[in-house]
Amino acid sequence: MFYYEVLCYNCKKIFKVYEGSLKYKQFKERKNKIFCCEDCSHKIRIDAIKNFFR
Ligand SMILES: [Zn+2]
Repeated sequence: MFYYEVLCYNCKKIFKVYEGSLKYKQFKERKNKIFCCEDCSHKIRIDAIKNFFR
């Protein structure tokens, strides 16, 4: 399986983006310049929900 090693802008860790995933496509097409890992995207989503209800 092909994958890219991408730097998470939030925690600065290298994580793998596997072929077939949305991030892989975005990275390949350079549509997004910043990427975050699953852990961070989960946290960001939770924070966004918290802020929404504040
Ligand atoms: Zn991260």
